[in-house]
Order: sequence, then structure tokens, then C-alpha cells
Amino acid sequence: MGYKKVCLNCQKSYNRPFEIEKIRSSQCPQCENQMEELSHLFQPPKQSNNKKWDVVRFLVNNGFKYYHVWETIFKNSKGEITGYQNYVKYPESMKDAKEFVEKYKEQAVTE
Ligand SMILES: [Zn+2]
Repeated sequence: MGYKKVCLNCQKSYNRPFEIEKIRSSQCPQCENQMEELSHLFQPPKQSNNKKWDVVRFLVNNGFKYYHVWETIFKNSKGEITGYQNYVKYPESMKDAKEFVEKYKEQAVTE
């Protein structure tokens, strides 16, 4: 699956890995921080839109890296996943993001 390298510090997203050589090492070419790998579904807010980037940081820190989150997950009696239904749209306000993280915490990706 495709992904974007995103620096949450500079609030910048790099689509094309060949843009700058350092990107291969996941290091931000601007501030040298470690960049996040987010899903290609991620639509970066304008760089100056701090409020929206706050929401992005909050979601990423809680394990939501813009991969699909499902409204409903079907499980059989053994608890095995048998199906998915309806993508959930990622929230854009902090208030919605908090509800989202709480509601879908089972689907957070934490390593
Ligand atoms: Zn940076």
C-alpha cells in the first residue's frame, strides 16, 4: 500500500520519495526529525493550519495513521474477523478526533 512521509514538526508531507535523497532514511530534510509514514489516503492540511495539524498529530500519536477505519467489523463466535463495512471518514476537529479515537481504539495500530 502506498504511503506518504510526513513531518509532524514542519507540517509537511512528501509524496515523492525521490524528491529529496534524505527521505529514504525517513529523516525530515528540513528539521531532521523522524518522519511518520501515513497512508496515501492522508490529505495534508495547509502548512499554516496549525489547528488541523494538531488533529493530525493527535490521531497519529493514538495509532491512527490514516489507514482505513471501519464503522462495523463483523466477527464470528470465535472472535475472528469475518468482514468489514463502511469506511469512517477521518475527523478534522479536535472534538471529533477525541470521539473518534475513543470509538475506534480497537482499530488503532500500535507497535
Ligand atoms: Zn521537519
